[in-house]
Amino acid sequence: MKPTTTRTAKRLSKKDAGLTLDDLAARVSRARIKGVGAEMQTRAKRILTSYLQTAATHGLPARDIAREMASGQAAWRLGHAVRDEIMKAPPDAVRKAACAHGCAFCCILTEDEGGLITAFEAKQLHSALAPMADTPDGRDWHPKACPAIDPDTRTCRAYDARPMICRSFISMDARACKRNAMGETEEGAGLLGNHLDYLVIHALCRAALKGITMVQSYSMAATAAGAVAGQDSDATLTAARHAPSVLDQTCRDAVIAAGV
Ligand code: SF4
Ligand code: SF4
Repeated sequence: MKPTTTRTAKRLSKKDAGLTLDDLAARVSRARIKGVGAEMQTRAKRILTSYLQTAATHGLPARDIAREMASGQAAWRLGHAVRDEIMKAPPDAVRKAACAHGCAFCCILTEDEGGLITAFEAKQLHSALAPMADTPDGRDWHPKACPAIDPDTRTCRAYDARPMICRSFISMDARACKRNAMGETEEGAGLLGNHLDYLVIHALCRAALKGITMVQSYSMAATAAGAVAGQDSDATLTAARHAPSVLDQTCRDAVIAAGV
């Protein structure tokens, strides 16, 4: 996958002056993520290193690639690339999925966070929802529903901007989703494997960019709530920003859930 440059991106910091793609590759090679096993780290490093090699082939500036790593755009692109690979030979979970238009029990966010998203995703989600500020939102349907959902049609009003966690969640049993939304714990719904790659790659980007720039994560529920309340992007992202430990803990939980 070819990385892109972002002309409008802000400067990272003076610390990235003279940064090369070889520097980034060395940083990725040295990076460590606490609580994530060697096999998973090696896999994430291989994917991210391939991304850097592709950037080098296309002559892209290291600073722009570092910005993509910092914002979460790199994790987003690579998570999609893994998903595309999965879809070439779809597993049962995909072929037998019960997911359908207007089936939205998975959009009832039983945990307050609603899921971890990157800065790249948070800005996209905010931008998609901002025009709908002060209109009825998902919480008019269910108090814990994602604010992005349409309370009448139960479809996502930010479909094209929905985060990776929404694109990766799948179930072969809508009744299990409904019971989970009611606070029970039912098997049958979960995240495709590409979501774990996305999370670990984002954590790897943070470890690799340590000392150069901050790599943040955000609450999806708080981002959507800020947007539909009419808050601007900066205020929304400030309120939705996680403590640094949340990304590490989310990775560890995802690794345990995936059994890798
Ligand atoms: S994950 Fe569950 S609730 Fe969501 S669309 Fe699929 S079947 Fe419906
Ligand atoms: S962003 Fe859209 S798909 Fe994701 S939880 Fe909210 S309503 Fe559902």
